Amino acid sequence: MRTQEPPLRETEVLVVGAGPTGLMAGLVLARRNVSALVIDPKPGPTRESRAIVIQARSMEILDQLGLARTVLESGQSALGVRLRGGRAAAGIEFATQQQGWTPFPGAQMFEQNRTETLLGETLAAEGRPVLFGHGLVSFEVQPAGGDDRVQALVEGPDGPLRIRARWLIGADGASSPVRHQLGLGFDGVTDDATFCVADLHGVEGAPSDALSVRFGQERFALLFPLGPHGHARLIWLHGDAEPDQEQALAGAWEDLGIRYERVDWFSAYRVHHRVASTFRAGPVFLAGDAAHVHSPVGGQGMNTGLQDAHHLANLLAEVADGHLDHAALDRYQDERRPVALTLIRATDRAFGAIARPGRRSALLRRRGRDVLAVLAPRLLRTSFGPYAAGLLGQYRIRYHPVPKGQATPRWARDRAVGLRLPPTEANAAALRAMAWQLHTYGCGADRPAAAPGWIEGPLPFPPDPLGRLQRDHLYLVRPDGYVAASWPVHAGAVATVDIDAALTAYGAIR
Ligand SMILES: Cc1cc2nc3c(=O)[nH]c(=O)nc-3n(C[C@H](O)[C@H](O)[C@H](O)COP(=O)(O)OP(=O)(O)OC[C@H]3O[C@@H](n4cnc5c(N)ncnc54)[C@H](O)[C@@H]3O)c2cc1C
Repeated sequence: MRTQEPPLRETEVLVVGAGPTGLMAGLVLARRNVSALVIDPKPGPTRESRAIVIQARSMEILDQLGLARTVLESGQSALGVRLRGGRAAAGIEFATQQQGWTPFPGAQMFEQNRTETLLGETLAAEGRPVLFGHGLVSFEVQPAGGDDRVQALVEGPDGPLRIRARWLIGADGASSPVRHQLGLGFDGVTDDATFCVADLHGVEGAPSDALSVRFGQERFALLFPLGPHGHARLIWLHGDAEPDQEQALAGAWEDLGIRYERVDWFSAYRVHHRVASTFRAGPVFLAGDAAHVHSPVGGQGMNTGLQDAHHLANLLAEVADGHLDHAALDRYQDERRPVALTLIRATDRAFGAIARPGRRSALLRRRGRDVLAVLAPRLLRTSFGPYAAGLLGQYRIRYHPVPKGQATPRWARDRAVGLRLPPTEANAAALRAMAWQLHTYGCGADRPAAAPGWIEGPLPFPPDPLGRLQRDHLYLVRPDGYVAASWPVHAGAVATVDIDAALTAYGAIR
């Protein structure tokens, strides 16, 4: 007796998971006209506030999708950090340091449920609703001579369904079934201290336009503004034992002096610091928490996932459009995995050292705060200020255009190459296009004959007022806004050999 096969749907990309990462991938693919299905067993967007910080770089990619204004208008902007409780009151105005370097200085507080709703509703309005209620059961890679396909078995409300796709993105969170099925390692550590998160109303002394730091005898805490009248997110490390809500908040009340009126949401969990052994296995990719998990303290985790998705979806679109060779897909792993590794090394370990509960670390922290109160204003007057603010806002993330250890080719020697293109007043609209473009900043250039038709330009812009872009160079800009190459212009022309070298390195099809 033959059993009936479940119905089959075909798509170019199957996105597993409709958290912030999967939704971002789905929306970028939609805007790039690549067919994609986003599936998730949950009934709709999360109801929990979870990740609340949207960093400047994520605002830039939301701007490409026409969604930044909504976040700005309905979120809460934090422009700096206030250190409370020292001998001298101190503050670090990171938004001031970010002025001119990003169109979105400051950090936007916008709860994860709102981010998911915004992305999901936009997808639905564009005729690509998320398949909620549909969970991945298993998948297999079907070899097809280098252009393999993935076939997934999905369980939905109407029974099982098969989905065949050219590529699969596992954006299915920290316990990723996709990563498990691939049998990939997820090496790292789990913190022994319990991390507490609470959304509070009526917090005494909580600024509405800045983060603030509270120092206690044993602990310290960060307060993120969520709205007026002391509406704030409090995060702190409680200690080794897992506290219930009452115990944890009593600790915050007694030790940290947090006075509040009401609790909206509380969660306590152990923080993992882990990175998947690879972000790509043939036609299957991992992104967001499925690929890396961190401490949420620097407000970087969800943002890193959003940027993974934006990077990967643009790359898949380039291959689907026939602009880039299949091999170019390795760039995702080559560029994004080091970002996750650096984040874990730099942020999480540093935080682990300073955030431990206990009297000794508390004393060290108070000393550190007093030193910082004196040093911070001086440091911020140097070039360190904009640099550190750029790392925090994630627009200083650098990709290596050629593998580390290889000699830097002529087209990659400009310090702008590998960074996202600095925004000027004139280039904002061009950067929203999500297309390959040639730009000049202060000179004219002929269109190089070696440039394939899918690269726009050259688009001539006035000189960069901050001198980050050279006046006599032609810049190649990627759809994700990163500078791919820079060539010197002589008498309006660029040497063809240099153009060829860069396009070959990116796997451009001409
Ligand atoms: C309680 C809690 C509090 C947090 N607080 C903070 C915070 O304060 N700050 C911060 O920066 N971060 C915080 N985080 C982390 C933050 O939520 C994540 O970094 C972020 O959600 C990552 O997004 P993602 O889309 O990669 O993964 P997720 O948001 O985890 O989304 C993964 C999705 O995959 C779906 N999925 C799972 N299995 C399947 C399957 N078989 N088939 C299809 N879909 C599947 C899940 O239903 C889920 O919707 C918190 C997380 C939790 C759980």
